[in-house]
Amino acid sequence: MKEHVARKRFGQNFLVDQGIIGAIVSAINPQRGDTVVEIGPGLGAITRPLLDRVDHLHVVEIDRDLIARLKKQYPRERMTIHEGDALAFDFATIGGKLHLVGNLPYNISTPLLFHLADYAESVYDMHFMLQKEVVERMVATPGDADFGRMSVMLQYRFHLEWLIDVPPESFDPAPKVQSAVVRLIPKDVAELNAKNHDKFAQIVRIAFAQRRKMLRNTLKGTLSDADFAELGIDQTARPEDLTVEDYVRIANHLS
Ligand code: SAM
Repeated sequence: MKEHVARKRFGQNFLVDQGIIGAIVSAINPQRGDTVVEIGPGLGAITRPLLDRVDHLHVVEIDRDLIARLKKQYPRERMTIHEGDALAFDFATIGGKLHLVGNLPYNISTPLLFHLADYAESVYDMHFMLQKEVVERMVATPGDADFGRMSVMLQYRFHLEWLIDVPPESFDPAPKVQSAVVRLIPKDVAELNAKNHDKFAQIVRIAFAQRRKMLRNTLKGTLSDADFAELGIDQTARPEDLTVEDYVRIANHLS
């Protein structure tokens, strides 16, 4: 088959390190009948070992040349190819209890994580390779400079676990950044205590829109002095000083 030239615009850095590939597939630990969905199968580095372990695999790929290769390599009974943009893909159409996996294109990883968070109810677990800096933001704790909107929104909905550090040499072409593999497991619905999810998301968005500002400025018009006092939240705090639970309490106070 003709050699594929990696496309920068699709964030193509193909995994070539067999040790890392093996560690990722072991972490995913797929079982025969699982519904596994790989985002961006590319040249099949993770796809092939996954297919050794599951009966059928769903993949979502945007690059037409790669789609053509996949069609030649794998029969339809083994693989369903969803052609197009994962950012616009409705994952719930595949079904429930999804095991989502992927060495994600770094250029769209943040919007993609927010998109995927919307499907938490259809998801069993997710394992993703991301830029290490993104994983740092995902798992950051209050007070960390990295603690931001993404940390709050993902930690509210998922249990997160940093699994494997991956150096640039594990890819071809090598990216300029370090990478890491992270696991996300949706929390039980009973654990989600925001009364109104949209309100919660809105408060988090407003608070972090100007992250250098104190909450009394960013949430002016949303929380009165009395509200701050009732909630026991310091008006001079900055958005990264509050916990996920604090944001839930603010949203519930207003709901
Ligand atoms: N899984 C392969 C591997 O590990 O070697 C490829 C990983 S590469 C970092 C990212 C893959 O995602 C590429 O195959 C790329 O074409 C695909 N991709 C990029 N943007 C996409 C999008 N918006 N929707 C679906 N796939 C996309």
